[in-house]
Amino acid sequence: MTQVYNFSSGPAMLPVEVLRRAEQELTNWHGLGTSVMEISHRSKEFIAVAEAAEQDFRDLLKIPSNYKVLFCHGGARAQFAAIPGNLLGDAKSADYIDGGYWAHSAIKEAEKYCSPNTIDVKTTLDGKRALLPMREWQLNDDAAYVHFCPNETIDGIAIDEEPDFGDKVVVADLSSTIMSRPIDVSRYGVIYAGAQKNIGPAGLTLVVVRDDLLGKAQRYVPSILDYKVLAENESMFNTPPTFAWYLSGLVFKWLKEKGGVAEMDKVNQAKADLLYGVIDNSSFYRNDVAAANRSRMNVPFQLADAALDKVFLDESLQAGLHALKGHRVVGGMRASIYNAMPLEGVKALTEFMIDFERRHG
Ligand code: PLP
Repeated sequence: MTQVYNFSSGPAMLPVEVLRRAEQELTNWHGLGTSVMEISHRSKEFIAVAEAAEQDFRDLLKIPSNYKVLFCHGGARAQFAAIPGNLLGDAKSADYIDGGYWAHSAIKEAEKYCSPNTIDVKTTLDGKRALLPMREWQLNDDAAYVHFCPNETIDGIAIDEEPDFGDKVVVADLSSTIMSRPIDVSRYGVIYAGAQKNIGPAGLTLVVVRDDLLGKAQRYVPSILDYKVLAENESMFNTPPTFAWYLSGLVFKWLKEKGGVAEMDKVNQAKADLLYGVIDNSSFYRNDVAAANRSRMNVPFQLADAALDKVFLDESLQAGLHALKGHRVVGGMRASIYNAMPLEGVKALTEFMIDFERRHG
């Protein structure tokens, strides 16, 4: 069978070693004669899985002890509602940086609960799409928090700077970039990420929240989205997505074995350099994001002749390079190259691209 590399933006490729291990222990987990997804989330066996996953996640991101880690349901979109519900307090507004599709979606949801101050940071640099640097963001003093999305999965645009806004509560949607590079967690009030890109299977959402932000939820917030309730119940206020939690735990172990987030950072840089290099060295392929804001996780690119899009997708699929179709709002192609994508996968893609150009250019 052809080696398959899956460039899906999410649910995305998982490390093959993790899948093999899960496969091996699927029906007889730890000698119990049953799978891990069939045991109680309150059993001592599952609690051990849950605790190990949390500890490994904390180690990987160097999460300070004054932060809680919550294993939630509802994806990142549930957090679009949970954030204002938990953090507004008495304030009427919050600052929302609009840099792309997902940041904008968070604003639309927040509008149900407050009057978000939309700060549009989209700009152009040498004719390419770019985002204003943080020092140019016009934040408001009376905003309860500032929300931004460091990596826009659809637009392929990223903010690599880390926030430095004094006492401001900074909230970041890290869904498509978490654990792809080291971050300084202490600069954030809340970090959240749907698991299905850089962590594990869909169905699990990780929330990292600073202790002093707990206990401020509005009355309307469903208990299942109330950070304090979740923290007090160790993310088991209701039945958590146990299988996704277990599998994410295996991914965290894999990451540690691979050298952790610092090592991922290097490999991710090498993968992105390789792919952007091929795009930039050709007039057949195009990426229209300014170098400083290019995403290392999601690389959208267009073919000079859009009439070849279908041929490219058909032939790449034949070559074992899956899910390269761009998002419907952008078109063209998109290669998502999260942690689980090995350098060899990006090499295979770039070789295919060069050969495709030779044959069709
Ligand atoms: N935020 C970002 C950056 C995303 O990439 C996505 C999904 O692709 C979402 C939010 C929405 O995530 P979910 O489908 O888990 O609600």
